[in-house]
Amino acid sequence: MSRTYDYDLLVIGAGSGGVRAARIAAGHGAKVAVAEEYRVGGTCVIRGCVPKKLLVYGAHFAEDLVDAERFGWQLQGKAFDWPTLRDNVLAEVDRLNGLYKNTLASHEVTVIEGHARFVDAHRVDIGGKTVSAGHILIATGARPAVPDVEGAEHGITSNEIFHLDRLPKSMIIAGGGYIANEFAGVFHEFGTSVTLLNRSDKILREWEPALVDRLLTISLAKGLNFRFNCRLSRIEKTESGVRLHFVDGGTQDADQLLWATGRVPNTEGLGLEAAGVETGALGAILVDEANATNIKHIHAVGDVTNRVQLTPVAIREGHAFADSVFGNKPWRVDYRCIPSAVFSNPPLGSVGLTEAQARDECGSVRVYTSDFRPMKNVLAGRNERALYKLIVDASTDVVVGAHMIGPDAPEILQAVAIAVKAKLTKAQFDDTIALHPTMSEELVLMR
Ligand code: NDP
Repeated sequence: MSRTYDYDLLVIGAGSGGVRAARIAAGHGAKVAVAEEYRVGGTCVIRGCVPKKLLVYGAHFAEDLVDAERFGWQLQGKAFDWPTLRDNVLAEVDRLNGLYKNTLASHEVTVIEGHARFVDAHRVDIGGKTVSAGHILIATGARPAVPDVEGAEHGITSNEIFHLDRLPKSMIIAGGGYIANEFAGVFHEFGTSVTLLNRSDKILREWEPALVDRLLTISLAKGLNFRFNCRLSRIEKTESGVRLHFVDGGTQDADQLLWATGRVPNTEGLGLEAAGVETGALGAILVDEANATNIKHIHAVGDVTNRVQLTPVAIREGHAFADSVFGNKPWRVDYRCIPSAVFSNPPLGSVGLTEAQARDECGSVRVYTSDFRPMKNVLAGRNERALYKLIVDASTDVVVGAHMIGPDAPEILQAVAIAVKAKLTKAQFDDTIALHPTMSEELVLMR
């Protein structure tokens, strides 16, 4: 590798995509540095997927402990202590942060702490120190988008939620996407009175509507509150929390306001203009299928490109970049059939086309549904039904979409995603003998 520059590769951002790219490029023999202004690990590890999933586990005990009595367990004096869970989760985040740092160190990747800003197309200022590199990978991720409304600063985002001093008695969550529904489920189980407030009349807009309706029905039955078609005029700070004022008059008070209104690429303050890197809507970095920007030695992966905001996609993009540029093994990420989950209560899992998308793309489709009450819910006296939906291209019999809501749906969905990605037919699903008694057996029993 050339030593014209300080490094062969400078990665800006030590999140999932950046760390994978750095490690793989170093494994191919490149001299690599990573610039990070906050903590190694990025959103997923530090303030996203990982701590969120641990809170989801923590929250689930609330219902499990109630159900346990129907299964013969007598539990006295059960109580939930938020600081215990919070501190254990944050300790786990610290542990993972350490592992990520070790991984970089063991691959001889230099971590440079500080905010990175392009000086020109090959040089970057990192906290006052200028570093040059032959290739630069921008992997700075995204940050929560907060609407431009008076008093917005009185709300918190998913960045702060893991650090709350105490559990709020009431919480308004603005937004109706992944983050809103996940935290709504979590805090409701902790005993907080949750209101999900959305600007339209739809939550989880991209998801199979039948599953979304089921989530809404179950959430309402559990006692979550929803306000649709809401426009905020301003947010006022009160002694106990916040007061939201609505455009059509009326107010609602809560101890806490959480913004869950999308995420925007982190490109502000990067000095992209000094390097000549082009950006598009929301400041996202424009890249081609090989993750290259308009400047040929500058690439970008992950949320900063605003393609698919999912950790495993960023990791794969980072890996493809490093293999292609430093390993002489060019390959591209296949964006078809990306499985996805919402860790709401109950959770949703999905892969492939929704029924409406399949009708557009395939023309004629067959739709199979299984609407059932999981065995555990029956004994627990819990009237919550799961819903599985398979979408089949009628002309080829290929299963083009699988959508599920119910206990462990994301765990089951990952396996189904292999079948859908492999273009297996409905006949092949049916030819597989059921594994009894499970919920997932429904997948091979839909007639
Ligand atoms: P989403 O894109 O999922 O949802 C954003 C929500 O906020 C929508 O309901 C949207 O309404 C609403 N909204 C957007 N802008 C405004 C505004 N200005 N005022 C009021 N409401 C607004 O975003 P999230 O923040 O929940 O998550 C960001 C991304 O992170 C997700 O898209 C996903 O890719 C990723 N993620 C993945 C997770 C997982 O894999 N389990 C978990 C968490 C995040 P409307 O529908 O009207 O546009």
